[in-house]
Amino acid sequence: MPRKIALAHLPTPLWRNDGLDDIVGAETWVKRDDATLGAEAGNKIRKLEYLLAGAIDEGASTVITCGAVQSNHARATALLARGLGMRTELFLRTADERATEPFTGNHFLDRLVGAEVHFITPSEYRDRMALMTQRAEQIAHTGERAYVIPEGGSNGLGALGYVDAMREIEHQVGLGLAGARTPFDAVVHACGSGGTSAGIAMGAGAFGVTSRVVAVAVCDDKRYFEKTIARIAGEARALDPSLGAPHGLELRDEFKGPAYGEASPAQKRFIVDVARRTGLVLDPVYSGKALFALANLVPKPKRALFIHTGGLPGLLADGGQLGPLSGTDPGD
Ligand SMILES: *Cc1c(COP(=O)(O)O)cnc(C)c1O
Repeated sequence: MPRKIALAHLPTPLWRNDGLDDIVGAETWVKRDDATLGAEAGNKIRKLEYLLAGAIDEGASTVITCGAVQSNHARATALLARGLGMRTELFLRTADERATEPFTGNHFLDRLVGAEVHFITPSEYRDRMALMTQRAEQIAHTGERAYVIPEGGSNGLGALGYVDAMREIEHQVGLGLAGARTPFDAVVHACGSGGTSAGIAMGAGAFGVTSRVVAVAVCDDKRYFEKTIARIAGEARALDPSLGAPHGLELRDEFKGPAYGEASPAQKRFIVDVARRTGLVLDPVYSGKALFALANLVPKPKRALFIHTGGLPGLLADGGQLGPLSGTDPGD
């Protein structure tokens, strides 16, 4: 059984708001994994508790990972690795002129802690594992060790972090922190690289959290994620043979909007509406699409758990897509 290091501030709260229940049309509990720490917060930190332990145990002085320019995973890795005395190299995908990527949001935080950034094109990004492995070999020739973490921290080792999250939720439900001490009708979350979904689907049934796990794809499609999640779960079960297979997984790919990182007009209105009626901040890349999916899900669960996976820095870099926000009151 792999070890992990404690990085996140746990347990994260279970949060409920009358206005949100109205908007969603269900009893909606929010697992505040957007509050797993400070600037490092979001879902990636639970995976990194295992992955960075792996890096330390291999004697790495550098961590290499990848993502979009506004990758939450890249940012969390850069910040947390720095705190553990390791440097980070990031392979970030950009279609734009490389020199013009603004230092905003996640990218700003990457730069703040001194991560080394390699910009790569979308076609180079398809070969990201080869690029990162090559770079790790170069570093090995200098006598240092580099540890490669795949996109989103989504491999078997990282997914163990979300199995643990299900154990944490079982405990909270048992304490009466989510109303009834019974399983939720559904657990709903955003799915971008599959590791979170794999962990939830392995843990939710085992810990009595739910028998319906709704993974809301924000890119790619149902077939791709079913394959990817099965592979990640297989890796996780090789590391921890006591784990069961993913259970009750329902992959939804009809809520991904016009493109990765871009929300539909209805999704944008939804995000603004939730913020104005409840104070809850969602991002247009992940959590906004996932909660929108819950509000429009057929069949809709009566009592749901929404995993808020974070994403605030990306919103701060790209909130302009939500519109001019000129009004000041709900419904304006
Ligand atoms: C990465 C991320 C997700 C998706 O998690 P995966 O494990 O990559 O599928 C969801 N929400 C936010 C805010 C993220 O940064």
